[in-house]
Amino acid sequence: MATIFTKIINREIPAYVVAEDKNFIAFLDINPLAEGHTLVVPKREEDYIFDLSDHEISELIVFAKRVAQSIRKVVPCKRIGLSVIGLEVPHAHVHLVPLNTTNDINFAKPKLSFTKEHYVALAQRISATFK
Ligand code: 5GP
Repeated sequence: MATIFTKIINREIPAYVVAEDKNFIAFLDINPLAEGHTLVVPKREEDYIFDLSDHEISELIVFAKRVAQSIRKVVPCKRIGLSVIGLEVPHAHVHLVPLNTTNDINFAKPKLSFTKEHYVALAQRISATFK
């Protein structure tokens, strides 16, 4: 069965997409730890990130770097943190989280919630800076 991320890739369910190319997609996390929290996902379905080929995981990180640079232009923060969890969705991905303190990337803390209009505008602003 297709993962929820494959359904997003196939536009079967909506997402606030910030960047996309032939092999990768990035969209805002629906339950963010911080404003601008973004997931970067290979389009090829693979459950565990460390089962990706060397080439694929390298490309994923390079794509994530470009996305992080875009997020940083839009969301005021000290740095963009990168984390791998993968306990909820069995489709390899990395989290990019704008950081001001270590606690900003603490996955045990309560998630934030924004309006649909806020997510749409934020995704559009990040997407506009993506190179
Ligand atoms: P993980 O698998 O890394 O433990 O967590 C999966 C992440 O995907 C969570 O941060 C969760 O909020 C996010 N997520 C789960 N379902 C959806 C969805 O349908 N849309 C979006 N945008 N994010 C999702």
